[in-house]
Amino acid sequence: MAATAPAHVEAQAIDPGLAVWEAHFRDPGPALARARALLASDLRDERTRGWAELTLAFNDLFFSARPDQAEDSIGRALTYFAAAGERRGQLLAQIGEARLLILKQAPLPARDRLLALRDEAMQTFPPEDRFWLLNALGATYYYAEQIDESVRCLYQALETLRSVDLSPQLPTVMSNLAATLVTVGDYAPARELAQDALEILSRFNNPQLLLFARSNLAEALQGLGDFPAALATVDTMVGDASLHAPRAAQNHYLAIGAEVYAHNHRFVDAVSAAALAYRVFEAYPGGFNEVHALWADAVVKAAQDPGPAPLGALDAAIAAARRLKHLPTLCKAHGLAATRCAALGRYEEAYAHSQRLYAANNERLTHRASVKYDLLKFEHEIRHARDERDRADRQRRETEALNRQLERLNDELSRKVREVEELQSRLASEAVHDPLTQLFNRRYLDSVVPGLLSGTLRRGSSLAVALLDLDRFKRVNDAHGHLAGDKVLMQIGRLFSQSLRPSDVVCRYGGEEFCIVLPDTDGDGAQVALAALADRLRECTVEWSGETLTGFTFSAGVAVFPEHGNVLPELISAADHALYEAKGAGRDRTVIAMHRPLR
Ligand code: GH3
Ligand code: MG
Ligand code: MG
Repeated sequence: MAATAPAHVEAQAIDPGLAVWEAHFRDPGPALARARALLASDLRDERTRGWAELTLAFNDLFFSARPDQAEDSIGRALTYFAAAGERRGQLLAQIGEARLLILKQAPLPARDRLLALRDEAMQTFPPEDRFWLLNALGATYYYAEQIDESVRCLYQALETLRSVDLSPQLPTVMSNLAATLVTVGDYAPARELAQDALEILSRFNNPQLLLFARSNLAEALQGLGDFPAALATVDTMVGDASLHAPRAAQNHYLAIGAEVYAHNHRFVDAVSAAALAYRVFEAYPGGFNEVHALWADAVVKAAQDPGPAPLGALDAAIAAARRLKHLPTLCKAHGLAATRCAALGRYEEAYAHSQRLYAANNERLTHRASVKYDLLKFEHEIRHARDERDRADRQRRETEALNRQLERLNDELSRKVREVEELQSRLASEAVHDPLTQLFNRRYLDSVVPGLLSGTLRRGSSLAVALLDLDRFKRVNDAHGHLAGDKVLMQIGRLFSQSLRPSDVVCRYGGEEFCIVLPDTDGDGAQVALAALADRLRECTVEWSGETLTGFTFSAGVAVFPEHGNVLPELISAADHALYEAKGAGRDRTVIAMHRPLR
């Protein structure tokens, strides 16, 4: 086998400390040893010492069971970098400081600090360093309940890993994404991601991340009702972490441990986990530690006592979850309180709890819908990555060594594509679909269009919004009954979504009205697309009680962004006017809006 020259050989000529920092990204163990050796040597160069200290610090922060120990080396790295005028090192050390703030349960100052340096870092960093920024920012957004922003950052972090060999950072992003999906209650993809992360983690020694990934896996399994698997996961997690001394400044793992043990009537373990969760909260009162501690206490009490006594603890957990806006616990606690009140015959309270459960759940679903939108966007990015891969393929076919690299890239890419596709297909669709036709609903339209409009603006392109209304549809109902009308609507819905491009968004707007969004399409393009759709609709036949129903047509009004409006409501209003004209002019036709509607 031919020896390939690793990238750091070249870097070594520049600075041995920097070489160690860069090698640490892929292979932390040996790089850590080299960093220690550099610091033990009598080398005086400040830049080199700065990089070695930074390597030590990041190793503590991300790969050890005691991330708080990084504080001293970060301080020293900052001093060295400042003296050497090493800007990249300074920014990275500040990212390390932000990470420490997260660990100390101060996510908001951490977020603000990262936002202050983001632009400079994104412009000047190589991909590996960008990863640390995006990953840390994703974590601060997560704890600041900005779940959508968090997913966006984490996917960007995943993107930076695209050009890098399988790295120990991959399971970090996957675990963070799994945690995010647990928060929006999307347990099935969360389980898959956490399991994948754990599989990759088995190759790397990272107790901190192991604990985090397992706690999210346990919560996902419990949420999916797979209680034996949840218990097995918690047992493994606790076996490594113990219920006697805290292993992290974050007590979520203990709360899920207490919940799962209580569910399985393992009360001694449940009580220990809840007690330790409370101790962690006392030592680190920030973040969601209070919510987790109170929920652990309540869920353990409720499992042991069937009477009204645990309701007090549940109320305390609810109050904290409401104050800190922790939706997962709010949902679980209201659910448990509702069941308990009902069992005690306290129906009014049970009703109040179910009402609030319903509201919290609704909010969770809204988050979930926008997460879905982000995942759709990432599908586009992956398509872009595919093109890049193909170009690289052509250029580099000659060289065997580079071909091997390409293969790895290919594997990683297709794995990522599979991951995202799986995620997407599993994402709950109920919040964004119309039950009769299975087309998207207005809620989805409202959530997806603003993003499409800003993309259109960036590309200097146009986007068409068409409102379609079936002609004389009442006659179908009058002649054949409402059920026949329903069947026709279902079939036409299917026909619409099958006939258009995958990037077009088809949604049922009202009874027999549809809204179709055509990205990168102008008025002429929309005319062509709708004429083809009208032809297919004319050929459509629906079988009903031995009869064949045919002759369906629609009238349509089209508004084009940015000519006819800047935002969805303006575009809809312009399209609606055009639709009205199309009906007035005899139906079975498409009219493009003439001008912007008056405000
Ligand atoms: P035109 O639009 O061409 O003016 O005539 P139309 O008969 O389609 O117009 P109108 O808007 O007056 O009536 C729409 C009809 O569509 C009313 C209702 O009978 C039917 N409709 C709306 N939603 C549904 C539905 O979910 N199922 C069924 N079966 N019919 C529906
Ligand atoms: Mg109508
Ligand atoms: Mg109609």
